[in-house]
Amino acid sequence: MVRSNQVGDRVLNKSPKVLVLLSGGLDSMLAVKAMLEQDLDVEAAIFATPFCLCDKCAAESAVKKFGIKAHNIFMGKEYLDLVADPPHGYGSQMNPCLDCRILMLRKAKELAHKIGAECVVTGEVLDERPFSQTKQSMERIEKEAGMEGKILRPLSAKLLPETEAEKSGLVDREKLFSIRGRRRLPQMDLAKEWGINDYPCPSGGCLLTDPRFADRLREFLKHSECLRIDDISLLRTGRHFRVDGCKIVVGRNEEENNRLLSIARQKGRPYLQVIGYMGPISVLEDACPDKVVEKAAEITVRYSDAAKGVKVDVKHVVAEKVRILKAIAAIDQEIAPLRI
Ligand code: SF4
Repeated sequence: MVRSNQVGDRVLNKSPKVLVLLSGGLDSMLAVKAMLEQDLDVEAAIFATPFCLCDKCAAESAVKKFGIKAHNIFMGKEYLDLVADPPHGYGSQMNPCLDCRILMLRKAKELAHKIGAECVVTGEVLDERPFSQTKQSMERIEKEAGMEGKILRPLSAKLLPETEAEKSGLVDREKLFSIRGRRRLPQMDLAKEWGINDYPCPSGGCLLTDPRFADRLREFLKHSECLRIDDISLLRTGRHFRVDGCKIVVGRNEEENNRLLSIARQKGRPYLQVIGYMGPISVLEDACPDKVVEKAAEITVRYSDAAKGVKVDVKHVVAEKVRILKAIAAIDQEIAPLRI
């Protein structure tokens, strides 16, 4: 619906535009719907990081459901630098949520300017997340993103200071909400009222909050000064071992073995593969000492179909040059302390 709208001193002949940060989770879907309910022209910013799990599909289906335009934004190198050394620290795991939100909002601000959106909207709920969604954190994020008073959070708006969008009449504060805390019942009721039935569970779509992955990343950062996209692909894949300071990544299934082989070939990384038996691909760091390569070969045999105690051939490939090693399977007690 097009409305004749007065925003501050300006009279607009079409619906004013707002930009909603859409993750595909229920809260952000409700934020979109709350804006559509106010006859606003809604566009969505869908952010992705190298640590995203599954919500992109949910965001895309929300875009389809609401018939709105979407802008996909991938946060790469600058996001990885924040993950390696976040000025505002980590949440419960390796999630630098404050810095992540600040970066997202800075990018959203630029995009809003480019597309002529009057305001940036998020689905954040006051006190839903203890690190990034307290009133104090929200104020800090806004300030550091250069957006004080400019971010509308429709689900908790009535519990927060009036934003510019409300003061100017762009949105009607009376039609906004006062949802607070971690219980999702009010959001579920609202979803029901608005006919939103299909939304993902709130388990989170960010690998950085996963304790197992966070341990791996922490360990990696102890041995490396920076974090690159390629490192993330390896961190997401396989069993990880560290032998004398060198990292060994061992595939757990066919899909992971294919991925590891492709990483090794593309990046020229050394790898190991048992000959004559089904078994994993193990990717090594460049220039590992021979002692480490031998241990890696034993670990590789351990996860192959070769019988215990049998000496087998293992292919060691470095820059397409192949040499054959002989190794027997490492024993579990011996490799357990090496496992990350
Ligand atoms: S959970 Fe991950 S994606 Fe979400 S704000 Fe935190 S760091 Fe960013």
